[in-house]
Amino acid sequence: MSQKLAGKVAVITGGNSGIGFATAKLFAKEGANVTITGRNEATIKSATAEIGQGAIGFVSDVSDINSIEPVYKKVESTFGKIDVLIVNAGIVMISPLENFTEEMFDTISDINYKGVFFTVQKALPYLNDGASIVVTSSTVANKGIAGGAAYLSSKAAERALVRAFAAELVSKNIRVNALSPGSIDTPIFEKAGWATEQIDEINTFFATVTPMKRAGTVEEMAKGFLFLASDDSSYMTGGDLILDGGFSNL
Ligand code: NAD
Repeated sequence: MSQKLAGKVAVITGGNSGIGFATAKLFAKEGANVTITGRNEATIKSATAEIGQGAIGFVSDVSDINSIEPVYKKVESTFGKIDVLIVNAGIVMISPLENFTEEMFDTISDINYKGVFFTVQKALPYLNDGASIVVTSSTVANKGIAGGAAYLSSKAAERALVRAFAAELVSKNIRVNALSPGSIDTPIFEKAGWATEQIDEINTFFATVTPMKRAGTVEEMAKGFLFLASDDSSYMTGGDLILDGGFSNL
């Protein structure tokens, strides 16, 4: 292993599942001191055990502003200042416009939009010089997909936040970038309560419209996060790394 993150302190929100979990495992192999957060205590426990290398995990809901900062305090007292912050926790909610309730809208924007804003804002006092922040957006941020108004716009908001954060933090020697996955094989639709047939249908749709004709893997996403987290991307800020099998540009 190249140990591209040797001795670095990395925090990954939503690190107990899917893309975040694969990223946490790769970062630990690359020498980072990893902290994961999520909402489910049992999976945080099993995930930290599997990540190994002294990884720690905390229950923290990104939509609850008060639950974010205590995590950073514990990270600082355990490992020191944060070098890498992966702002990855997110949910999907797809529904015809007329069925979308205010409660659904608030839930998704509190996690995917407000949660991202305050996950970054509350981290500021705990970031190390030269820190790298990466936000998981989505390739669908630039697309129109029926039923996706709230999800797509929350992911587009993340891209806008990344550009604004990057502009504000460049003078503090902190880089901020987005990683935009295409269709990736994770439990995200299951967790949204979708039936197996609906999941098969959306996976078939994306496999058809993706030039590479397949979903991406969580390991492929983790490699992208490693690039953005490490000095390999030292001249990149305010940008968007699109890992989508050609979906958005071909
Ligand atoms: P996942 O469901 O496996 O992981 C989502 C993670 O976010 C989980 O760890 C969950 O605990 C956490 N989370 C959700 N709500 C939270 C909250 N309120 N507070 C704290 N943690 C919370 O799904 P995934 O596909 O790995 O999703 C990770 C990110 O990737 C999301 O932001 C998602 O929008 C984005 N994304 C996924 C895909 C895809 O096809 N899977 C495509 C583009 C973007």
